[in-house]
Amino acid sequence: MDQARTLMPSEIRDLVVSVLAANGLGDEAAQAVADVVARAEADDCRSHGLYRVEGYVAALRSGRVNPAAQPCLHRLKPALVRVDGDRGFAPHAADIARPHLVAAARANGIAALAITNTHHFSALWADLERLAEAGLVAWGFVVGQCAVAPHGGTAPLMGTNPIAFCWPRPDGLPFVFDLATSAAARGEVELRRLAGETLPEGWAIDAQGAPTADPGAALSGALLLFGGHKGSALSMMVELIAGPLIGEMTSRQVAALGQDDGGPPPGGQLILAVDPSSVSSGALRAGEGFFADAAAQPGLRLPSDRRYAARARSAATGVRVPCVLLDRIRALRSA
Ligand code: NDP
Repeated sequence: MDQARTLMPSEIRDLVVSVLAANGLGDEAAQAVADVVARAEADDCRSHGLYRVEGYVAALRSGRVNPAAQPCLHRLKPALVRVDGDRGFAPHAADIARPHLVAAARANGIAALAITNTHHFSALWADLERLAEAGLVAWGFVVGQCAVAPHGGTAPLMGTNPIAFCWPRPDGLPFVFDLATSAAARGEVELRRLAGETLPEGWAIDAQGAPTADPGAALSGALLLFGGHKGSALSMMVELIAGPLIGEMTSRQVAALGQDDGGPPPGGQLILAVDPSSVSSGALRAGEGFFADAAAQPGLRLPSDRRYAARARSAATGVRVPCVLLDRIRALRSA
């Protein structure tokens, strides 16, 4: 029997919208979430694709996420925008606030957007690509689920706390990197648990602090950081700037709430954006010199090259979705 079905990204999007709508989510928010899920599937970032839909639905069904959220924008300073997501999903608040961040960055040369009171389960590149398309250089930070031990520690203190960056390219798709500060994203560990696979060395410790290759033991122990003490410092920075700096909780404070319905954690996100033309009219062209030097090294690939190749493939031939996953997601429209 066929173990997977081929869906076009637009079909994935429509499926997710229908599932979220059937679970009471307003149309604008459903479109925003489904857009990120479909783009993640198309770019072969499965840990933030369809696999997350059950969590989104769980958070709606438990009542933790507000299905009728009305994100509210606050202009704190000329270059400082905050959107209160009204307990909704982060992609919805981000969609509403993004044009204001872009306008503020163009007017002031630099601007920041604090996204608060939302639930975040998404990949950051999805937000940043939109800003690169608007010609901005940008950074994104989000406090992830508390699962990561600090360098030298043995228990979760930080989230998987991704950092992303984008740089528009005059003649092509933007340069974007997006990385969890943990050795691997928590979703990746969960996917390996579901697939019955083991973890590479250096990803995790168990509840006693001993190294483990068992995803289950890792999820009840702690994930490790990338880059030892350097990753630890970056992760701590994310806790502070996407947490207390913007009036949000740290990942440990979120974990202490004990809201474990399997959905996205509540928390904050910070996005910084610079209009390169405000700093130097030739900035983006000059950047191309750097990319030309990089391209001269055989075998080198830039961050996002894999995603862009997957995106082109998906647009042409669709995305293979395991039938088991598809059936589970379709079933979420009822019950
Ligand atoms: P990866 O380690 O797979 O990749 C990190 C970055 O490095 C990507 O930009 C990737 O580009 C690039 N890269 C990977 N391999 C190479 C290579 N050989 N040469 C050059 N560049 C390379 O991602 P993570 O597991 O760290 O994170 C996955 C996702 O999880 C991210 O999108 C992140 O936002 C998300 N996340 C979300 C959280 C949340 O709470 N919302 C929490 C934690 C993570 P490419 O994509 O092209 O491979």
